[in-house]
Amino acid sequence: MSAFDPTLLENDKIFVAGEWRRGTGDAYVSIYPADQSVNTEVSTATARDVQDAVDIADVAWRKPDWAGLKAHERAAVLHNIASLIDAKQEGLSLLQRRDNGKPIKETRALVRSAANTFRYFASCVETLEDAVTPSRGDYITMNVHEPMGVVAAITPWNSPIASDAQKLAPALAAGNSVVLKPAEVTPLASLALARICEEAGVPKGVLSVLPGKGSVVGDALVRHPLVKKVSFTGGTTVGRGIARLAAEKLMPVSLELGGKSPTIVFEDADLDHAINGVLYGIFSSSGESCIAGSRLFVAREIFDEFVTRLTHAAQCLRVGDPSREDTHMGPLISKQHRETIERYVAKALEEGGRLRCGGERPTGNGREAGFFYLPTIFDGLTNDSRVCQEEIFGPVLVALPFDGEESLIEQANDSVFGLAAGIWTRDYKRAWRVSKALAAGTVWINTYKQFSISTPFSGWKDSGMGREKGYLGIREYMQQKSVYWGMNDQPIAWAK
Ligand code: NAD
Repeated sequence: MSAFDPTLLENDKIFVAGEWRRGTGDAYVSIYPADQSVNTEVSTATARDVQDAVDIADVAWRKPDWAGLKAHERAAVLHNIASLIDAKQEGLSLLQRRDNGKPIKETRALVRSAANTFRYFASCVETLEDAVTPSRGDYITMNVHEPMGVVAAITPWNSPIASDAQKLAPALAAGNSVVLKPAEVTPLASLALARICEEAGVPKGVLSVLPGKGSVVGDALVRHPLVKKVSFTGGTTVGRGIARLAAEKLMPVSLELGGKSPTIVFEDADLDHAINGVLYGIFSSSGESCIAGSRLFVAREIFDEFVTRLTHAAQCLRVGDPSREDTHMGPLISKQHRETIERYVAKALEEGGRLRCGGERPTGNGREAGFFYLPTIFDGLTNDSRVCQEEIFGPVLVALPFDGEESLIEQANDSVFGLAAGIWTRDYKRAWRVSKALAAGTVWINTYKQFSISTPFSGWKDSGMGREKGYLGIREYMQQKSVYWGMNDQPIAWAK
């Protein structure tokens, strides 16, 4: 077992209703995907723990020491959380790396982004204004916002601390209580975040962290009548199921789902920049990223040259030990996930794809012990092939030539997903035109996979609904209320 900072993670307890205790589910053995060594054992939750957490959460948020605090007082707690995350950056980066195998540079960046997310929403809640609206009578009219109550936050395994923070920070800032369910395979960083929140002054019961199975813990949370909002990040199939249950309860949901994002390289692009951007867009995080640019459209006149150069650059990426600063790609999350990717690679070959590089597991340097997979590039396929239509969530890129803007846009938009897109061109008018024509929640022009917490993030089509981040991201966790405040000296005329 690994030695982790004991102030972040201690034995096998989980955080239920303000208490550190063993969950009532089976123990989960957390392993390091880079070599399959055991990280630690964590108990998991069941519907019983969900019941305890939600019951207490429903009492805790209403108290004077949480929803009753002045906005600047709650903001101070969020600032404390951010400072503690910064202070424990190395311990948290280590936990996150051991949990899902991401390279240390990436996990450090995720931890920094989590701290900044808490800071950002602290500022939002302190500066957010309700409104006195133009009145149509002898009364004052107001538009005010209040907490929703118990929020369920359900997160995936690819960037746990950052996705947790994107939900916890606005939900807590708004005065709610939160029951967080991290992915079954990555509970460590989320439990550490709970310790930090506790130390930072989040009152008892306002936060619970319940690791465990989605079909057990996640499902019980979504169905619970006292849960008033679900904020979910994960796959489209699970998200759709949650939306169905939420419809029955008439409960608002935010869904951040899958993607199959197009990256477009025009003939006039700065090719050095484009090659770097395309590689980063698909192969960073080993392709386990919702916004991975997994369909590459290249203008036909530069297609051969571009794909040859790109292939060479992909073969130079360093795949291996995630603890090394110079590693580009760590392992995939699990044996099962690598097998899924291998099935997609076999499918691409069956469909007539030409393998330009990768398509296998790397060997040497101890990599046989982990779930590594080489960066893989195909061409010779069309956009309607299965590997171009389904999310693979791994290091597999399909390059497709295009002729003319119209057919390009048609193909780029021919996907059930609409999460993100990238454009590489020096022609600023074309960049603007194409960015407007693409059906995606985020478009990057001459860059890729860059984020600002101040800029909203949302998926179109099967990539989701609702918004995260941005100044108004906090409103996703608030209920609007209108107040009419009579000022007339006379009774309402009707009853006269
Ligand atoms: P997943 O949908 O399998 O699981 C996500 C979370 O939902 C986990 O915590 C899981 O335990 C839980 N869950 C599973 N079944 C559930 C159920 N029936 N009820 C309630 N909760 C349930 O996704 P994953 O494999 O963890 O993550 C990969 C997916 O997440 C990819 O599709 C990826 O594109 C997507 N993702 C999207 C974004 C975004 O912002 N749009 C970000 C990261 C990942």
